[in-house]
Amino acid sequence: MEQGKSSFRIESKLAQIGSVNDPATGAVNFPIYQSTAFRHPRLGQSTGFDYIRTTNPTRKVLEEAAAALENGDAGFACSSGMAALQTVFAKFGQGDHLIVSLDLYGGTYRLLEQIMSRFGVTASYVDTNDLEALEKCRQDNTRAVFIETPTNPLMMITDIEAVAGWAQQYGLLTIVDNTLLTPFFQRPLELGADIVVHSATKYLGGHNDVLAGLIVTKGAELSAEIGFLHNSIGAVLSPSDSYQLMKGMKTLALRMERHQYNATEIATYLQSHPAVAEVFCPGLEGHPGYDIQRRQSSGNTGIFSFKVKDARYVEPLLRHIKLIAFAESLGGVESLMTYPAVQTHADIPLEIRDAIGVDDRLLRFSVGIEHKDDLIEDLRTALEAARLEIEGGGSV
Ligand SMILES: *Cc1c(COP(=O)(O)O)cnc(C)c1O
Repeated sequence: MEQGKSSFRIESKLAQIGSVNDPATGAVNFPIYQSTAFRHPRLGQSTGFDYIRTTNPTRKVLEEAAAALENGDAGFACSSGMAALQTVFAKFGQGDHLIVSLDLYGGTYRLLEQIMSRFGVTASYVDTNDLEALEKCRQDNTRAVFIETPTNPLMMITDIEAVAGWAQQYGLLTIVDNTLLTPFFQRPLELGADIVVHSATKYLGGHNDVLAGLIVTKGAELSAEIGFLHNSIGAVLSPSDSYQLMKGMKTLALRMERHQYNATEIATYLQSHPAVAEVFCPGLEGHPGYDIQRRQSSGNTGIFSFKVKDARYVEPLLRHIKLIAFAESLGGVESLMTYPAVQTHADIPLEIRDAIGVDDRLLRFSVGIEHKDDLIEDLRTALEAARLEIEGGGSV
């Protein structure tokens, strides 16, 4: 259904997702096929569709688009980002070991430590940008390296090409969670990774209104294996959610450009704000991952984190923001602020959180597509109100 469109630029591919040339109706958008069953013309024949869990026409359009966008061989749409991760991790079993990015999405850490551990899968958490550290924790039973870049919330950058090259010499798979940059800004499979995973709930959906996950694989054998797991586990995306997700993805290019612009402007503003101790934004010069990120990605995510000077600022700041919502999640058109230590990262043990710096002064900001000046004004007012409550009197 996406035939002949592979040579177009990514903006065109995105806008044209599901665009069909239906001679019968002239429909511009691919319809939602709710049917769970598909009639067989005769014994031994199939239209290519048998049963919804295995494949469905609407989901298939989304999966082909995902594969084309990431420049992979096959795409799989799942009922959530966690379902996508679970499907990929089900490839591993008793005695297998994984090397995983240290500053990891809390849900992924929980899946590995509390679920996959029951099936005998172990994981070591390291700074995946440190090849010596990778070498040190590699074991005979290591099967894969799992990377988030940038990480969330500390925005640490990993050199995907370097890690994939290192992994390849030992026959290890490289798996990248590409949620924060999306294929619009970063395509890990082109840098040597084998599997890309997305929480499509975030930027790909983009409107804080659909829960979904995507997997894109490279290579026939790996694609067949993930396809088998996808169908066997059954955590697949419904036809209506597939449609909803595609609708969001059509505007991904426009949204990412604005997210990036707003985040850079606001991170720059906060960098010189007297109540802010530190800003973690790989799009700003001076960030330790700035050069690698520039080399391997064509842009920056709309998420950054910052530490206020005093943890006592956090509560009143979250109470005084008006345009920015205090909420968990990221990647939508609406700006959201998260407090990782008590929200997304509560399942990560305190020692690990402290070691990487996810402390009680850290806030994560998923910058939306509102006007940057309104967002800056919201932050300025809330920080000033917080300062007055804590310190009283005078102006900053
Ligand atoms: C949200 C998120 C997930 C989990 O995805 P869900 O769609 O919430 O299940 C995984 N990885 C990252 C980086 C995320 O931000």
